[in-house]
Amino acid sequence: MKKQYLGEIMDHPLLGKLLPVDFSPLKTCSFNCYYCNLGKTTKMTMEREEFYPVQDIIEEVDSYMDQNDLHDTIFLTGSGEPALYSKFGELARKIKEKYPSISTTAYSNASLLTDPEVRNDFCECDIMQFNLNAVIAEEFSRINQHHGRVRLDDVLEGLRKFKAETNKPIWIHSIFGDNFNTSEENIIGLRNFIAELNPDKYIIRKFEIENDVKPLREETINFIKNQMDSLSCKCHYMGFD
Ligand code: SF4
Repeated sequence: MKKQYLGEIMDHPLLGKLLPVDFSPLKTCSFNCYYCNLGKTTKMTMEREEFYPVQDIIEEVDSYMDQNDLHDTIFLTGSGEPALYSKFGELARKIKEKYPSISTTAYSNASLLTDPEVRNDFCECDIMQFNLNAVIAEEFSRINQHHGRVRLDDVLEGLRKFKAETNKPIWIHSIFGDNFNTSEENIIGLRNFIAELNPDKYIIRKFEIENDVKPLREETINFIKNQMDSLSCKCHYMGFD
């Protein structure tokens, strides 16, 4: 059977074997991040939609599970921002009911988190992961190239509210690109916001696609590490070797 909603199994250094589950047309997002490995955003939107029926997605997951060994984690990814799938909460809840021993996670840009329904939907995941690259508006816009209705203050407030409303683990990811979000002001601001939010993990990465972007300078890497190493939450540096 041709897979419509399932991606290729991925090995994740922190989550083990991931089964990606997709539920949105490529590439539907409220951001157009410079480094996005899905390519350019073709549908830039802030509106939630029922792109595909939950039942069709569940049937494909069931069919896969019948024929394959179970994996560690189901990754509810979408081909863009997962909150844009209006049935995200129902999908996550049904998958968890059927496969309680498998962990569920999603990775969001946090742009819709001021919506209480989105926060409720994300609470269905065992681990919620969010991206936050900048706390300075100019750098936030430069790296994320977001929809005109996205406000940095809403993103930060949404993260605070989500953290206050759930006792499930939250991971934050920051991705750094030279001259995009590497001002000392931004790095210190991110450090302070992460200290306030106190996520369960803070994952720090750099652009994978170099294109015309220069690699991070040694002094920038050292400055990031000096700042983030003083956090009380666990920091993971990926690709910084
Ligand atoms: S938020 Fe994620 S999917 Fe959307 S453009 Fe950025 S990296 Fe790509």
